[in-house]
Amino acid sequence: MHAEQHPARACKTRAFGLPTHGAHRHDRYGCDARSKRIGSQQLARRDLLWLFGASVAATALQGCATSPVSGERILVGLDEAGEIAIDRKQSAHQFSRDLGGYQDPEVQRYLNSVALRMQQVVHRPAMPYNYRVVNANHVNAYTFPGGAMGITRGIMVEIRDESELAGLLGHELGHVNARHSAQRQGQTLLASVALAAVAVAAARNDARWAPLVEIGAVVGASALLANYSRENEREADALGQQYMVQAGYPAEGMVRLHQMLVKEEERDPGLLAVLFASHPMSRERRDAAQEAASKRYAASRNQPAGRERFMDSTAPLRRIKPTIEACQKGEVLMSRKKPGEAEAHFGEALRGSPLDYPALLRMSQCLQAQGRQHEALDYAQRAREAYPGEAQAMKQLASLHMGSRRHEAALSELLAFDWALPGDPGIVFLQGVNHEALGRRDAAATAYRSFLREAQTGGAADYARSRLRAWGL
Ligand SMILES: [Zn+2]
Repeated sequence: MHAEQHPARACKTRAFGLPTHGAHRHDRYGCDARSKRIGSQQLARRDLLWLFGASVAATALQGCATSPVSGERILVGLDEAGEIAIDRKQSAHQFSRDLGGYQDPEVQRYLNSVALRMQQVVHRPAMPYNYRVVNANHVNAYTFPGGAMGITRGIMVEIRDESELAGLLGHELGHVNARHSAQRQGQTLLASVALAAVAVAAARNDARWAPLVEIGAVVGASALLANYSRENEREADALGQQYMVQAGYPAEGMVRLHQMLVKEEERDPGLLAVLFASHPMSRERRDAAQEAASKRYAASRNQPAGRERFMDSTAPLRRIKPTIEACQKGEVLMSRKKPGEAEAHFGEALRGSPLDYPALLRMSQCLQAQGRQHEALDYAQRAREAYPGEAQAMKQLASLHMGSRRHEAALSELLAFDWALPGDPGIVFLQGVNHEALGRRDAAATAYRSFLREAQTGGAADYARSRLRAWGL
C-alpha cells in the first residue's frame, strides 16, 4: 500500500506501461547493463540518506542517471544482490517497529499458504520472499525489495475473504517484481534517533526534558519503507491483479480490497486518515481494478474467493478487533500529542485483551508522556512479559530507566535490545550516553565512535562528535 510520493519529488522512471502476460517481464525493468556507475557526488541528498543506513547498498549501486527518453534523471538501481542485502538489513527493524509478528502460528501459517500460492506465478520466483502478520494496529501492508512483507493486524481484520488477501499480497509482490524499491527514496536505519534527542537532553541533565518519547513515531510506522510513485502503485495493482487471477482467484478481490480502503478513508477522515498511508488515488485505483475485472479478467469471475477459509483461519484476529480499533484511536491521539485522551482508549483495549502486547506498550508510552513514570514502567514490564524477546518493550524500558537516571538498568535493556535486534546505530548511541552518565568515558567514546561510523549527521552525531572533541579524542 504505502504513502505516495509527492509527484513533484518523484524520481521519474521510464513508463512501464501495463503488464503483459509474458514471462520474464522483469528483464525490462531497472537499469540496463550499459549504464555507468555514478559517483556519490552525483547522488541526491535523499540517496545519500538512503545509503547512510545501508552501506551495503554502496557496492550494489548501478548507474542509470539519465532517461534515454526524456533526458531526465531516472533512477538509482540496485542489482538483485543489493535488493536482498537491504532487505536482510532492514526488514527485521521494520517488523519490530510494527511491534513484531502476530503471535499466532496458525494465522501466520495461513498467510504463508496463500502467499505461496501467489508466489508460483510471479516473475521473480527465486526471490527470498517471506511474510508475516505484524502487530501494528493501523491499516497497512508493505514489502522490502527482497520480498520480506509485513501485513498489519489492522488490515487483516478489515479483509473479508482470501481473494482480497491475495490482491493485497499480489500488490506487494508487484512492487518486488517490478523492482520499485530499487528506485525508491532514501531511508535510514536510525531507528532510535528520536529517542536519541531525548537521551542527549537527559545526559545534559536538562531539567526541561519532556518525556514525549517518539510520540510522533507511534503512528508513522513506515520510516524504513519506500515511497512509491503513483505510476509504481498503478503498476503494482495491475501486476497484483494479474498474479491473483493466475493463482486462481477472482479479479474482483482486488476491487473489494480497494473498496475497503476507500471506505476506511471515508469512515472518519479526520481520525483515520493518519492511520494508514493516505491514498488520494484509491478511488481511481479501485475503478481501474474494476475495469480490468469486468473486461480482461471477466473469466475469473467464478474462481472461488475463499471466504470461509479466510474467516476460519483468521478468526483469532477478529476476536480482538475491538482491541485493535481502540489502539488505533489511542495512537491517533498520541500522534496529536493528546496522551491524556489516548489513555482511555488504551484502557479500553486492555479491558478486552489484558495481555495484548501492543496495547500494553502503547499504554506505557502514553503514561510516560504524561509524566507517570512508575505506572509506565509497570506496563512496559508487562509488555515484555507478554512478548518476550520483542525489542520495542526493551527500548521503552531503557527510555524509562534513562528518564529516572537509572543508567545501569537502561544499559542492560539496551544490550538486550541489541541482542534481540542487532544493527540499530541509535541503540549504540544510547549506550554511549548511559556510559557517559556513569562516568565511563572510554566505553562512551567507543560507543560514540561506533555510532559515528554509521551516522554522520543529525543531533545525535553532533553530540557524539562534541563529546569526543571535549575529551580530546
Ligand atoms: Zn503499494
